[in-house]
Parts: sequence; C-alpha cells; structure tokens
Amino acid sequence: MGYPDSLKQLIKKVESTRPDRVKKKQDSVEFPALSLEDRDKVLKAYHPDVKEEGRREVMIGPNKGYRIAHEYVDILEAKSRISPEKIDLSKPDYETDVLVIGGGGAGTAAALLAQEQGAKVIICTKLRHGDANTMMA
Ligand SMILES: Cc1cc2nc3c(=O)[nH]c(=O)nc-3n(C[C@H](O)[C@H](O)[C@H](O)COP(=O)(O)OP(=O)(O)OC[C@H]3O[C@@H](n4cnc5c(N)ncnc54)[C@H](O)[C@@H]3O)c2cc1C
Repeated sequence: MGYPDSLKQLIKKVESTRPDRVKKKQDSVEFPALSLEDRDKVLKAYHPDVKEEGRREVMIGPNKGYRIAHEYVDILEAKSRISPEKIDLSKPDYETDVLVIGGGGAGTAAALLAQEQGAKVIICTKLRHGDANTMMA
C-alpha cells in the first residue's frame, strides 16, 4: 500500500534535516522542542485518544461520567449478549466440560480454545464480558 503523499512529504522533511541533526553535538543544529502548551494543542487537534470528538461520556455503570473513547463506551454501554431465556438464574445448575472463571483475555482465549477442541464450555465473569484489565491494556 505504501505511504500516502502527505506522509511522504513529511518523511522528506525529516530526511532533509537529518544530516544537521546527526552531526557531532557541538556542530549540530538545535531544533527547538515544542513547548508543553504547543504539544497539548497538537495532541488535542490530532491524537485519537485526546481529541474531544474522539470521546464521550459514559452514561451507566461504575465508569459513569468518565469521558473516554467511543469504542470503549460502546462496549461498556452494550446490552448483554446473553439471552435471559437461555439462562435460568433461579436454578444455577449446569453441566459442562470446562468452566472458565474470568472473562478477560486469558479466560476468553482459554474458553475459545477449549470450545474449538470440542469441549462444552461455560465462562462466568464477575462483570460484563470484556470489562477486564485486558481492555484497559
Ligand atoms: C491500565 C492497564 C494497562 C496495562 N497495560 C499493559 C500493557 O501495556 N502491556 C501488558 O502486557 N500488560 C498490561 N497490563 C496488564 C494486563 O492488562 C494484564 O496482565 C492482563 O490483561 C491480564 O489478563 P487476564 O485475562 O489474566 O486478567 P483480566 O483481563 O483482569 O481479566 C480477569 C477477569 O476475571 C474476572 N474476575 C475477577 N474476579 C472474579 C471472580 N471472583 N469471579 C468471576 N470473575 C472474576 C474479571 O471481571 C475479569 O473479567 C495493563 C493493565 C492495566 C490495568
């Protein structure tokens, strides 16, 4: 696919100043670093994790009121994928080959692997599936 033209122009700019930057310390040209305020402006304008329009407020749950990325809010506010008709919570008595406790990355990977090997799997987790350290990482 290669770089888009806009990025190629930036690469040229970096390459054209490289010889000056790699000279010995005493001969090299000092390019001023951005001030903290300017960095903040650039981040707010372009960085997907920092741009205001890249975030929204969580409306429900323990993270209610936090402004975080839309993708996380979508997950945190999602309806459960478990159908209440399929699970009788008044009689929590199920037979399974593999019981996985914890729905983070490790538990989910283990459950998928066991299922692929033909085992009947139940995964139970204390919060919603995906509401785990793995998502934060
Ligand atoms: C902010 C943050 C950033 C991180 N960044 C990195 C990184 O950059 N690189 C890196 O390698 N690692 C990082 N880590 C560590 C990484 O997230 C964890 O090592 C990894 O996600 C652990 O995966 P896990 O599936 O074992 O646990 P988790 O993802 O924590 O999942 C545990 C699951 O068990 C459930 N559970 C807990 N107790 C019970 C219970 N009693 N009954 C039922 N369910 C229960 C939880 O609800 C959760 O679903 C970060 C962690 C955090 C918090």
